[in-house]
Amino acid sequence: MPIREYRCRSCDHQFEVLERGDDDAPTACPACEKGKVEQLFSVPGVRSDGTRDLAMRAAKKRDAQQAKDRIHERLRYEESHDRHGH
Ligand SMILES: [Zn+2]
Repeated sequence: MPIREYRCRSCDHQFEVLERGDDDAPTACPACEKGKVEQLFSVPGVRSDGTRDLAMRAAKKRDAQQAKDRIHERLRYEESHDRHGH
């Protein structure tokens, strides 16, 4: 059973929930009991919360950059492909 991490958008309280199914997803923060919660996706090998946030931001930035690079590579490939008369 996966343990999922959540963070309250209202008070920033972070907590873990042992999930048994989608029905167990928390909808409100257990600390302030009214905040909306969002699921955190853990980054392997990173333990501290602050570092994890930074790592997540870095990973998102890197993914966006890689997506752009892939598009550019694809365009370059198609251009050269056309130029060489296939
Ligand atoms: Zn809260």
